[in-house]
Amino acid sequence: YYNQNTLIYLNGEFVKAHGAVVDLFGQSLHYGYGAFEGLRSYSTHNGTRIFKAEEHFERLEKSCNAINLPYSWNNRMLIEKTYELLAANNLRSAYIRPLVFSGSNMHLMTSTDANIMIAAWEWGPYLGQNLLKVNISSIERPNPKSFRVDAKISGQYINSIMATSEAINNGFDEALLLDQDGCVAQASSENIFIEKDFKIYTPPLENIFPGITRQTVIDICKDLNFEIIEKKLTIDDVYQADSAFLSGTAAEIIGVKQVDHVIYKEHWENTIGASIQRKYKNLVLEQENYEVII
Ligand code: PMP
Repeated sequence: YYNQNTLIYLNGEFVKAHGAVVDLFGQSLHYGYGAFEGLRSYSTHNGTRIFKAEEHFERLEKSCNAINLPYSWNNRMLIEKTYELLAANNLRSAYIRPLVFSGSNMHLMTSTDANIMIAAWEWGPYLGQNLLKVNISSIERPNPKSFRVDAKISGQYINSIMATSEAINNGFDEALLLDQDGCVAQASSENIFIEKDFKIYTPPLENIFPGITRQTVIDICKDLNFEIIEKKLTIDDVYQADSAFLSGTAAEIIGVKQVDHVIYKEHWENTIGASIQRKYKNLVLEQENYEVII
């Protein structure tokens, strides 16, 4: 992720990642009390462009508000600093990771001060480019009544780590997690879509993380006149689908070949998901509709 020369943005300054110091006596390290984001920049015809930068930093602010972690930064300024960070590290296509973490404090109380770091590195599609084998995890998604699941809170990701590890140890690439009602909610860090009889289905927002890529997929469906329906999905809905795909900033759009023992018969290239995948690639590489910053 970094070498001797890599710079990160830390509380207003660009500093070397190597040797940057954090307080070991903080709630983020001990209790997972922090919030983060994941963005991608692309080398486009118009230069380096961060896809949906405003949406991601707004979500970071909302996540911090959800846990009363003070958020004193202006998002436009953070976006500008992120572009400077990319240029300083000579990065064009990159994954970008802002993290807001608490200061020195070991109490089980919300924090009165916070730090921000932004790092960036080259990262290919998170789940690779081959069709995926996924399993229905034995681990459920966090219950929204335990803590809001629409915020990107560090501690929540223990759940994703355990589900992914279980999947990989059982010979799969990624896990699908059920919600508290036993419906398929999403993957460990991606949202899920299925195709059945030429319609696309995805679970509604209540028990899932509101992916920005998920919303982009919905927009693409509307744009291309594909019918998209938000509805709770049972395990059987997923098993009996014609095809399925996952969406996320890191993974982008990636098709699913197999769920547990069920292998989809439809050839991926012929699915609506494949059309959406192609449109998404064009969208992130063109970004003509997004404001030019550098
Ligand atoms: N679900 C979870 C739990 C995630 O962490 C992510 C990635 N942030 C997603 C879904 C996909 O969200 P996005 O499309 O905004 O990257």
